Amino acid sequence: MKIIRGKSEMRAWSLERRCAGDSIGFVPTMGALHEGHASLMRASAKENRVTVASIFVNPTQFAPHEDFNAYPRTFEDDCRIAEDMGVTAIYAPEKVSLYPDGYATYVNVEGLSEGLCGRSRPIFFRGVATVVTKLFNTVLPDRAYFGMKDAQQCAVIRRMTRDLDFGIEIIELPTVREPDGLAMSSRNRYLTPEERAQALAISRGLFKAESQMKAGERSAESILKTVRDEMAGLNIDYIELVDADTIQPLERVEGRALLAAAAWVGKARLIDNIQYEVPTS
Ligand code: AMP
Repeated sequence: MKIIRGKSEMRAWSLERRCAGDSIGFVPTMGALHEGHASLMRASAKENRVTVASIFVNPTQFAPHEDFNAYPRTFEDDCRIAEDMGVTAIYAPEKVSLYPDGYATYVNVEGLSEGLCGRSRPIFFRGVATVVTKLFNTVLPDRAYFGMKDAQQCAVIRRMTRDLDFGIEIIELPTVREPDGLAMSSRNRYLTPEERAQALAISRGLFKAESQMKAGERSAESILKTVRDEMAGLNIDYIELVDADTIQPLERVEGRALLAAAAWVGKARLIDNIQYEVPTS
């Protein structure tokens, strides 16, 4: 597996691959890899001739009070996991190469970036859309793989890819969970054993609400109450039912609905969601 640090080296490598007729799959990550990331890499390695995974803790998506400095950095372990998953090349650029002095250009996906996580993290999706654009422009993938655990991020990337004519296929894969239901996240490393046990209330609440929807419940109020009751002991950021594409609130479950929750547990801000598509009869 190749490790590439330089922007121009990455681009040259990808251009060469494309000229040779190889399809390029791409998995952007911030490292501290776990089975969630691994599932994306495995899928990409299966569906493309070569796979690039990026490892870059992106400063522009963190507000000054957030955990940019504390974010876990485990590069050697990450390389081992990526190689095992069949990744062909790791792209791990330096911060200064992506954001040199005088950097002034940002990608803003309007509307979709404002609700849910965008409310408590107002610059987050601007940072994500900007860095993914920059990575797309360097890695030049045919397909890019994202996890549905970050469902609002998926909606932002889908819309951006369409609106800016990237011509890249966006592939979204299901959330990988621990056996007890906790959604895997690099930030789970911040949790003490007690906090980890408390954090289970998030997935428990979402699963209960999912059963309700499957049983025919359509009222957002009732579904949200189920999750809120289960998460009552946590410091809740939001619990919302929205349309999965527009991220606009729903009063009733319809179309493809996204039930999303975020809460602070100890030092970690955790997010999770389930998606439910109303069957068309
Ligand atoms: P991150 O390193 O947190 O920026 O995540 C990189 C990619 O992995 C994103 O597309 C995430 O949605 C995805 N991802 C993170 N956690 C999970 C998970 N538990 N299951 C599936 N995908 C995930």
